[in-house]
Amino acid sequence: MLEDIKSKTCGELQAAFREWGLPAFRAKQVFRWLQQGVSSFDEMTNLPRELRARLAERYYIADAAVVRRQVSRLDGTVKYLLRLRDGEHVECVLMRYHHGLSICISTQVGCRMGCTFCATGKSGFSRNLTASEILSEVQAVQRDAGERISNIVLMGMGEPLDNYDSVLRFLQLVSCEEGLNIGMRHISLSTCGLVDRIERLAQEKLQLTLSVSLHAPNDEIRNQTMPVNRKWNVEALLNACRSYAETTGRRISFEYAMISGVNDSDDCARELASRLEGMLCHVNLIPVNDVTGNHYRKSSVERQKRFISILEKKGITATVRRTLGSDIDASCGQLRRRVEEEETAYAALREE
Ligand code: SAH
Ligand code: SF4
Repeated sequence: MLEDIKSKTCGELQAAFREWGLPAFRAKQVFRWLQQGVSSFDEMTNLPRELRARLAERYYIADAAVVRRQVSRLDGTVKYLLRLRDGEHVECVLMRYHHGLSICISTQVGCRMGCTFCATGKSGFSRNLTASEILSEVQAVQRDAGERISNIVLMGMGEPLDNYDSVLRFLQLVSCEEGLNIGMRHISLSTCGLVDRIERLAQEKLQLTLSVSLHAPNDEIRNQTMPVNRKWNVEALLNACRSYAETTGRRISFEYAMISGVNDSDDCARELASRLEGMLCHVNLIPVNDVTGNHYRKSSVERQKRFISILEKKGITATVRRTLGSDIDASCGQLRRRVEEEETAYAALREE
């Protein structure tokens, strides 16, 4: 079986090359090509032909191919569907902000967490992505956009901390100077609240922004929408967040999808405020997007404002997240489902 060369760090490549009796500069050359996003060893034109052939015998180069692109007419947000080597699909979204291009990427094909409001959770879990595949998402979209991507959010399909090792390896690759060189301060990672992994991540002391999908102020509500809460409840999660903020000195960003009549009452706002009191944090309210057929409705604008004002009165800063690409369903998990349904329909037609 061929090995995944693009998931290797520069140091690991150097060690592998040393075993072959090759100098470190050769490993660096290969590393740079991989970070630039080449898809074959033959493109590594500064390597001797024999070395290219030898590499191709032992390794493969992960890649992601753009198979669909939907552009929002409202704000230019682009949603991509990418195909991986084994035919699986993942989604990414490219957003343009005043400070540059930001990409939302996937870390798994599907997700095991089963949140009731989420399209990805609904369609089940297929597999983890490798570090090289996660990196390939950024490379493929940057190539397509023809412009440098400066910010990354790990908020696409999947639960990043359920694929911990590959995600950490990806972070190391994408932030390295010989590579895309996107610094940790320009990266956000979103989790549904895997407490043991949050504790582990705190020890890595990375400068990234940790976003926590809270979506409820108490266990009663959170148990209904997020099955993960039965393993680690709100208290356990908030304790881990508090200690994460203390260990890293970084402010936690709490995501809160506002669902009309479920988690958006004044009491919910008060309870949330009192539980977050004293923590280095910020609350991001997101009007829920009804994608799962569970009849969740967005809270009204008045409700959003009222919710924010209660939080702010108690000293918790909060904003309503600007929704980009609302005309193209730019939250992840939906395009893949549609395409797979189409493919199934197409396969059925061929079989007839
Ligand atoms: N698994 C991670 C990251 C991917 S989901 C997590 O759950 O944090 C990215 C964000 O989108 C999360 O905050 C998630 O709760 C939110 N989300 C998922 N479905 C949504 C929907 N239908 N409406 C609004 N936000 C949603
Ligand atoms: Fe998974 Fe996040 Fe969706 Fe929950 S919200 S099912 S954790 S991707």
